[in-house]
Amino acid sequence: MTEVLRLLAPNPGVFTGPGTNTYVISDEDECVIIDPGPVIDVHRRAILAATDELQPRAVIVTHTHSDHAPMANPLATELDVPAYGYAAGPDFDPDRRFRDGDHLGFGRATLEVLYTPGHADDHLCFRLDDLLFTGDHVKGGSSVMVEDMSPYLRSLRRLQPLALRRLYPGHGDEIDNPQEVIAQYIEHRLERETEIVGAIAAGAETVGAIVEDVYAGVDPALHLLAAYSVVAHLKKLRNEGRADFVDQNMGGFEDHDGRWAMSVMPLEGGT
Ligand SMILES: [Zn+2]
Repeated sequence: MTEVLRLLAPNPGVFTGPGTNTYVISDEDECVIIDPGPVIDVHRRAILAATDELQPRAVIVTHTHSDHAPMANPLATELDVPAYGYAAGPDFDPDRRFRDGDHLGFGRATLEVLYTPGHADDHLCFRLDDLLFTGDHVKGGSSVMVEDMSPYLRSLRRLQPLALRRLYPGHGDEIDNPQEVIAQYIEHRLERETEIVGAIAAGAETVGAIVEDVYAGVDPALHLLAAYSVVAHLKKLRNEGRADFVDQNMGGFEDHDGRWAMSVMPLEGGT
């Protein structure tokens, strides 16, 4: 019988909610570990204690962000198993690379790999029958930061035909109404898109102006995060020939001022 154990890493915060969920999935006497999180010794010991009676087969990551992946390589070395992921990142180097449709067996269970870019372009979800380990593609109770809205929406729609009973997110609690939540996620993003298109049509010429229009009712402390989200929408609109923006070289996620000042242009007939 397959069992799922959730271990909460002690890294609560704005982006991580209560902290990162590490999952130990076991079947018979074998297990895999998903998203061991940042390098935190008390968490490392909790994972080792949880897998003590089991034969670990792999340490795998949903994506390489710093709240999910940095402990994967050291833990895999310590357990003498391979570390798996889609690609290398700043604090992660996979021993084996997963591709969409790959499978990983342990005990009598099989994990299926789904490539789900959007939150990050190296993002994977893992399906085990009617269960899905979603990383930051779908979160329990807090909103997902999206890098690019086109692949993100495609990656959400891809989950809709799947017969899923439960989602195990990278942050927050399990989700037992997956299709309802996925449909809400899509609807919410499309509503925002309509509002952003409206703001551009009404003359908003920068990302900051769009945020001030569309997110007028939202706590200003969140406006810089909103700007990140607007850029993700603009990438989709550009992709569809509906708007354009000056895609200047951002100094990373923290370059709020650069992002805020980014120029936005409607395309003729596009809005
Ligand atoms: Zn995360």
